[in-house]
Amino acid sequence: MTHPSYPTVEEIIKLMKEPSKADRELVQKAYAFAEKAHEGQKRYSGEPYFNHVAHVGANLAGIHVDAATVAAGILHDTIEDAGVTAETMEKEFGKEVLTLVEGVTKLGKLRYHGVERHVESLRKFFIAMSHDIRVLLIKLADRLHNIQTLEHVPEAKRARIALETLEIHARLADRFGMGKWKAVFEDAAFPYAYPKEHTQVLSIIKHKRITDEKYAEKIHRSIQKELAENGLKHARVDFRVKNLFSLWKKLARKDMDPDKVYDILAVRVIVETVEDCYRALGVIHKHWRPVSGRIKDYIAIPKNNGYRSLHTTIFRGDGGIIEVQIRTKEMHEEAQYGIASHLAYKEKGGSIPLETDKKLAWVKELAKWQKEVAGSEEFMENLKMDFFKNRVFVYTPKGDVIDLPEESSAIDFAYAIHSNIGNHLSGAKVNGKLVSIETKLKSGDIVEIETKESACPKRKWLEHAKTTLAKRHIRTYLEKTSSIGTLAQKFFGGN
Ligand code: MN
Repeated sequence: MTHPSYPTVEEIIKLMKEPSKADRELVQKAYAFAEKAHEGQKRYSGEPYFNHVAHVGANLAGIHVDAATVAAGILHDTIEDAGVTAETMEKEFGKEVLTLVEGVTKLGKLRYHGVERHVESLRKFFIAMSHDIRVLLIKLADRLHNIQTLEHVPEAKRARIALETLEIHARLADRFGMGKWKAVFEDAAFPYAYPKEHTQVLSIIKHKRITDEKYAEKIHRSIQKELAENGLKHARVDFRVKNLFSLWKKLARKDMDPDKVYDILAVRVIVETVEDCYRALGVIHKHWRPVSGRIKDYIAIPKNNGYRSLHTTIFRGDGGIIEVQIRTKEMHEEAQYGIASHLAYKEKGGSIPLETDKKLAWVKELAKWQKEVAGSEEFMENLKMDFFKNRVFVYTPKGDVIDLPEESSAIDFAYAIHSNIGNHLSGAKVNGKLVSIETKLKSGDIVEIETKESACPKRKWLEHAKTTLAKRHIRTYLEKTSSIGTLAQKFFGGN
């Protein structure tokens, strides 16, 4: 018998993280059930429909989520497309799997039709997510397979699906720190959403990438050797190529000049502990001169989506420069699987730092606090009870989601967009209606900011700003203007 074009159940189970006997049985049962339920159904490609759901199950197993989620992923289309009833599903697989599958089914088939629908889609996602984040992961795993098989979809539909994937699924993956899925979403959708730009970026970097790759190959070995000689024998060094869509976005900000993008290729150093990260940085800086202003400590100050690593850019010694990213294994897994990796780290007393800084990304907060609760059930329960209670998700008129602490006002929103917008804030519209800029925002609000060149921060804004970011900008502005005032008083004798 030839190997089928979809993952076997053994292959799916192999991808899972330490599955118990019961876990394996649940996945096996779901697999056999779905195979039968979808019998005779075909995809656009002419392949069996079951092909799709097996891939979705494998996608989920690959990010190490629990067995119920993997099973629900395999079963995700059986209610909607194979006529299985909720009663049967519950009888066969229990309440938890049923709830997950129903959550996915309810989320329905999203359509991207301009701004309005886009906002609506995101809103649906956030609502589903606030009930159980695993529903969202299944939905993303579903899209991940669909976007990778987009060439089989009728041409008229491709661009819409690709655009929707970039606008919604890739962004959500990014928001959850799921770097690997984000890159897959983006690069699979890019040629269909922006065909001209895709061709353009390919031709721009063609040469650059080939030469860079040669140098990266060489320097990554020198770094490995240098680290080993300095007591970091277990460091794993390799390199990665920046994914095409993010490269295009970056090129667009750098006059389309590939020589201004320093991380098309980056060397990646994976070490055991946080201390080793700083030690490796020291060893590397001792042997290769760093480019000034390009050293970033995302371990001490993680990115908004929870990303942690040390970044530096070094002179290779042959005239060129290259970025180096240093992180622990755990940070590496987090950078690839984001929130999913936190769900997997249930018991492990890993090295998620005990940060107290309130400005830290909420994914980060989630991870930290998740460590304090025992099992995944309690985690899920708390996730919807506590966590989302303290955040509001509001939208820009274009549908970008901005998350803010509860009780935030339009002032916080303006500064979250850009400090310049905040500093020239003159008015705000919420859901199309003009409101005071002190108005507290609610989840789902669409907020439009009006600015005036002559507008500037007022002291009383401090009472209505909730985020540290907004408060800091307002204070900086007030201090600057008052010191100019004092100076003027000195020179011109006051009054
Ligand atoms: Mn599906």
